[in-house]
Amino acid sequence: MTSTQRGPRLAAALLPVLAALVLALTGGCGRQGSPPAKGPRAGDLPAYHVDTAFSLPASPTWTRAHRRGRLVVGVKDDQPYLGERDPATGAYSGFDIEIARMAAASLGFPADRITFKAIASANRETALGNGQVDFYVGTYTINALRKRQVGFAGPYYLAGQGLLVRTDEHDINGPRDLKGKKVCSAAGSSSIQRIEADYPDATPVTYDTYSVCVDNLLTYQVDAVTTDDSILLGYAAKAPKEMKVVGRPFSKEPYGIGLSKGDTALRLALDDAIVAHERNGDWKRAYDATLGLSGVPAPTPPPVDRY
Ligand code: GLU
Repeated sequence: MTSTQRGPRLAAALLPVLAALVLALTGGCGRQGSPPAKGPRAGDLPAYHVDTAFSLPASPTWTRAHRRGRLVVGVKDDQPYLGERDPATGAYSGFDIEIARMAAASLGFPADRITFKAIASANRETALGNGQVDFYVGTYTINALRKRQVGFAGPYYLAGQGLLVRTDEHDINGPRDLKGKKVCSAAGSSSIQRIEADYPDATPVTYDTYSVCVDNLLTYQVDAVTTDDSILLGYAAKAPKEMKVVGRPFSKEPYGIGLSKGDTALRLALDDAIVAHERNGDWKRAYDATLGLSGVPAPTPPPVDRY
């Protein structure tokens, strides 16, 4: 479903808002290609120890990547502080990107041997199933339904579903206020599924990505954007005059590293990697330099579930 169109007059009136947002998201008046004002600074990121002696012949995925000499990791590219691609340089940054880099290092792959591939929420299971990516790190909630199709290492972080609205919105303070409201989320996400199942009076609107939902929010095409608080806080932190996160989180979203369902050896190796990087301080340093910039201090990571 897509939203209805408003007149061009409205669009024209909102151009300054959009322009302000673009400036905020691209780092304001910095020269082209300069890092955003509040982006991760390379010096703050941990350098991960690459386990060059690592070998995992029992994993078909690892064996294929090792032969290829590169690891292909599925990610998001438009989620501030989580998984973001700088259009000027092509460089990826964010907490999920760091989780991918630390896991890769444990599997014997240095950062320059990783190819990141942006995959939308709705396409993750297919990409993992057909080997388009070796594993996936992108705000990917572990749940029973998905576990029928893919494997999950972790969790490495616990998010919760929230709501993002315009700062001039005062009627929406939680999911119960969504009656008759257009609420936008990504197709294939657990966020839109929860709205459809638990809040049937809301009008769901879906796009491939959350950044398109945010554009629609700012142009008054939708009334709210819903997904994990971790994602929404990033958009709000980059344009605080235009948008705010409201209410309390209304779900639990444990983030896992998605992988091919049958590859148990890789799943357990990734679990080991997550635990090792939590213990040696890499996890916290990576969090502080990325997701921590959206304003929430580092939590204790959830326990890894070696199923
Ligand atoms: N964590 C939720 C999910 O996995 C929402 C975020 C996303 O779409 O990546 O569906």
